[in-house]
Amino acid sequence: MGFIQRTLIDRRSHIGGNSYTEDVGGIFVHKYGPHIFHTNSQTVWDYVNRFATFLPFVYRGRARRDDRTYSFPINLETLQQVWGVQSQEEAERKLAEVRVPIENPANLEEWALSQIGEELYHLFIHGYTTKQWQRDPRNLPASIIKRLPIRTLWDDNYYSHKHQGIPAGGYTPIFRQLLEGIEFRLTIASMATARIVCPSGLRPTMPCITSSGTRVS
Ligand SMILES: Cc1cc2nc3c(=O)[nH]c(=O)nc-3n(C[C@H](O)[C@H](O)[C@H](O)COP(=O)(O)OP(=O)(O)OC[C@H]3O[C@@H](n4cnc5c(N)ncnc54)[C@H](O)[C@@H]3O)c2cc1C
Repeated sequence: MGFIQRTLIDRRSHIGGNSYTEDVGGIFVHKYGPHIFHTNSQTVWDYVNRFATFLPFVYRGRARRDDRTYSFPINLETLQQVWGVQSQEEAERKLAEVRVPIENPANLEEWALSQIGEELYHLFIHGYTTKQWQRDPRNLPASIIKRLPIRTLWDDNYYSHKHQGIPAGGYTPIFRQLLEGIEFRLTIASMATARIVCPSGLRPTMPCITSSGTRVS
């Protein structure tokens, strides 16, 4: 039976990365923005439910632009709000009309224009992306935007996954259980400064410091 030496380090003062939640008087605050757990995999869903009770949650987004509120991500309701279209056929016809023919989109802007055209791009993507990523969308890869759904159906569910929810007690207790038996060091920015002690009697699998202070890489 082999042993694996495991140490988790994080430069933040807590575990859980962006999914970290903080208990503030019984309210589980998602410190880095709200996180919804979503998966199509029954195995993953069953696994994560071993560690927490998930409350059902479906994210139906709304986007405020100038003085109007739109359904988001783009779906038939959004297209009705912008163009007045009433059916999937009408929406697809309109999209086919406005798409900018770009054979091999090289960046985020080109990909968006080739899918939704100038008006929707400027309404929903350009300003938001420039502000969020602090970069010109022409300097960002198309892959960033490709996961955003563009639908011509009355379906405003942000994630199209079968299983979606938010853990009733936040995510941090899940991470705590996953890390049981694993050493973790917080507010440490790199392996070089982690000063991990070499395991006695085992061959080290990561840089560590022996009891005599020698560094093993
Ligand atoms: C506002 C917002 C909302 C989101 N909502 C959702 C959602 O609803 N559903 C969803 O599935 N996803 C959501 N995401 C995406 C989700 O946060 C990420 O996919 C997920 O956190 C990735 O996990 P990770 O462990 O790879 O990275 P992270 O969660 O970013 O964790 C990486 C950790 O590594 C640490 N670290 C990095 N470099 C070093 C270093 N050199 N030394 C020490 N530590 C280091 C960081 O401090 C951090 O704690 C959202 C993201 C944001 C920003």
